[in-house]
Amino acid sequence: MKDHHFQRPKKALGQHFLRDHSAIRRIACAIPEGVSVIEIGPGPGAITEALLNRAGKLAVIEMDDHFATHWQSVAEKNNVLSVIHGDVMQELDRAVKSIQPDWIAGNLPYNLSGPLTAMLAAYALPGGMVLMYQREVAERIAADPGSKVYGGLSVLVRHYYDVKRLLVLPPGAFSPPPKVHSAVILLTPHGKSPACKYQYLQQTVRQGFAHRRKTIANNFRGSITAEQFEAIGINPRKRPEQLDYDHWVSITNQLNDA
Ligand code: SAM
Repeated sequence: MKDHHFQRPKKALGQHFLRDHSAIRRIACAIPEGVSVIEIGPGPGAITEALLNRAGKLAVIEMDDHFATHWQSVAEKNNVLSVIHGDVMQELDRAVKSIQPDWIAGNLPYNLSGPLTAMLAAYALPGGMVLMYQREVAERIAADPGSKVYGGLSVLVRHYYDVKRLLVLPPGAFSPPPKVHSAVILLTPHGKSPACKYQYLQQTVRQGFAHRRKTIANNFRGSITAEQFEAIGINPRKRPEQLDYDHWVSITNQLNDA
């Protein structure tokens, strides 16, 4: 987007605009040419411009009136692009179901990271996702069992995807600079068929990580007995961060009589 289209960044919308060209290239090049992509929060378009040169179809979801109007005027002359003007939390489900994208990309608004990632991880896309977060959130998502920051999101993204850290960026890669580093995560489908429903897994991790310092027997008190944990091969004295994805699936199936 040209400079005169620029407006003062809106803090409430998490507007920190990417200006590092090598990062822009690496994010865009993670996505193969010719595919269908949804980008969340194009803003002035650092990633959008790069994607417009690669994607077969690009749909952007933007809440900011100024940026949405700008991209709508671009879309009038470019049939690769379409624009959804609204809140991604409201629009995403309909957009994914109607567009059926291969990929989802975005430098995500910081305030939505957790709930938006839980929503995104429910979609089994054929291509994958390339998503930018505050580094601390990216670390939580990519964490392995045993790590202090391993939690519900780390389990949920593994339902359909392998997780890779693609790059870490300092505050100066953005304008205005955020307070913390950012990091980009690449999710690619692992192709295994899931052994439980995503929505059930989501309920299980919510309950299981409710009290991180308690044992899982305590977190599931009244729902699963110590004997039942033993029967599914899980030591009930373990803490939630010690359980891997397969353990969480076993607990989910135990809770739901599958
Ligand atoms: N993609 C641009 C870049 O990398 O420079 C902007 C990224 S900025 C971190 C986040 C973008 O998401 C902004 O354009 C902001 O207006 C948009 N945004 C914030 N909240 C949103 C929401 N709930 N729904 C859709 N877009 C939102």
